[in-house]
Amino acid sequence: MSNVVDRFIKYVKQDTKANPDSGSCPSSSIQMDFAKQLVNELKEIGLTDASVDENGYVMATLESNTDKDVETIGFISHMDTAPDMSGKNVNPKIVENYNGKDIILSEDGTVVLSPNDSPEILNYVGKTLITTDGTTLLGADDKAGIAEILTAMEYLINNPEIKHGKIRVGFTPDEEIGRGADKFDVEKFGAKYAYTLDGGEIGELEYENFNAAGANITINGKNVHPGYAKNKMKNAVLISMELNEMLPKEEIPSKTDGYEGFYHLNDLNGNVEEVKMEYIIRDFDMNSFENRKKVMKDVVSKINVKYGENTAVLDMNDQYYNMKEKVEPVKYIVDIVEEAMNETGITPMIKPIRGGTDGARLSFEGLPTPNIFTGGHNFHGKYEYIPTFAMEKAVDLIVKIVQKYESKN
Ligand SMILES: [Zn+2]
Repeated sequence: MSNVVDRFIKYVKQDTKANPDSGSCPSSSIQMDFAKQLVNELKEIGLTDASVDENGYVMATLESNTDKDVETIGFISHMDTAPDMSGKNVNPKIVENYNGKDIILSEDGTVVLSPNDSPEILNYVGKTLITTDGTTLLGADDKAGIAEILTAMEYLINNPEIKHGKIRVGFTPDEEIGRGADKFDVEKFGAKYAYTLDGGEIGELEYENFNAAGANITINGKNVHPGYAKNKMKNAVLISMELNEMLPKEEIPSKTDGYEGFYHLNDLNGNVEEVKMEYIIRDFDMNSFENRKKVMKDVVSKINVKYGENTAVLDMNDQYYNMKEKVEPVKYIVDIVEEAMNETGITPMIKPIRGGTDGARLSFEGLPTPNIFTGGHNFHGKYEYIPTFAMEKAVDLIVKIVQKYESKN
């Protein structure tokens, strides 16, 4: 087994599940345990300044070994795993020379990773895969990223003839609960550009994501005995349905893809007296995003014109923005990865992320941060798996990227 695979298997066995119900940072103390282990390992391979801060953010430096003036770049991954599924007692299974058939994951044979549900697995016939035992997630998201970054740093240290500028490494807590960028100290990190290794399939390269807003609407009704309600009752449930009907029916998650945006009614709760509706609004284009928010406001005011002031109360907030705005002016940081992929035998797949990333938030804090593949598939659940060659390719890619930054100067 290669170093990256050994590391990966060691990391996934350590439970680092994030806890969305906790207000502390990191949200679970097991993440801090893992952070300390990573600091030791970074020091062991020669990144002597490795440290973890009180919030669980690990940072370390690989010093430049060139006389050239090279931009400092960073590589970032997250330590936590998704709260959706257990990350305890992960028991990774190694499937060598995959034969293209169903892979029985669980001992009782009921949990099966099948090409019928995951057709892309057929791309890996003949390769070695790492899967779960059907009872937990795997944690390739994002321990594959950590293993890949660490192994690439080790490779650079062991091969000093490869010239590179200063490289910063960052491992963050709580990405899966949307807090990974919250306490990331961009200034302390001190890189000009960074890359998250947090994507899926080999070749993925992403620098566009949604603009995002959340819209919470409260419908205030008026309950009266239904037998004597004529001209008196205001049924909040019916009004909420009427409100939703006014939104464009084709612009919902199940009917959109690619660069199309949507309105998504994520939650609805209530009764005649009061209904709470939770929408999310997503769009890649900023003008179109602003227009969607205006549509939401218009729909709410129409309800209020019809049923009276304050029948519908809107609380709408922006959540994150498309990093393209911050990456496009320095687009060569994407181009350089695309070239590095081509030179390491990886076919680049540049596509928009229909969601957000920590890199999007970091980009707006002054650290443009596109996202690179880890190699994994089916994140956040028991069907998660990763081909080992993709992890090895990710290591090669990191090494190639730092070389390209050095040689372009
Ligand atoms: Zn992730």
